[in-house]
Amino acid sequence: MSKQPSSYLSSKLEARPKANGSGNGIFSLELIRKGELVAVFGGVVYEWDAFIHLPERDRSLCIQVEDRLFLVPRPIGEGDYVNHSCNPNAGLSGQIGLVAIRDIKVGEEVCFDYAMSDTMPYDEFECGCGQPTCRGKVTGNDWQKPELQKRYAGFFSPHVQRKIDAMRKEKRAFEQAMRMAKKFVSPMPLYE
Ligand SMILES: [Zn+2]
Repeated sequence: MSKQPSSYLSSKLEARPKANGSGNGIFSLELIRKGELVAVFGGVVYEWDAFIHLPERDRSLCIQVEDRLFLVPRPIGEGDYVNHSCNPNAGLSGQIGLVAIRDIKVGEEVCFDYAMSDTMPYDEFECGCGQPTCRGKVTGNDWQKPELQKRYAGFFSPHVQRKIDAMRKEKRAFEQAMRMAKKFVSPMPLYE
């Protein structure tokens, strides 16, 4: 049986325990340039109803790849230990690719923001990333925050981007309806 992990991790990175003892992370061994591919996730795709019954470890190492679909690593590899940060240096390219969104120095931990992939409440936690931009609690609804939509433009998973586009379309339609409604309101008082 092959022991090859289902994910790919660039040879410029390695997984190791974090200095603060809060589990594993992936760290750069060489300078990584903005736009470089750092990892590709792999595994088995589960639908939400089956996924929520998997062991906690499986659920914490997975990535949401579509509405109600989750990619669970089988077998787990180094590339599956990418953590969340509210000030990430990596973002998604497609559903399973991870690219540097800025230059990454040697020794830096490579993280992405789970808002780029998550739209469901399967991995919500109090964030301890310690970044000035830390939002405190990470939830499955964070992709709806306008400031994150702006900051991570181009780095959301396609299924999240579709939701963002639909949300914007709805907002535009609402604003247009409001403008039309105003236009047809009589400027004259109804009763003298
Ligand atoms: Zn944070």
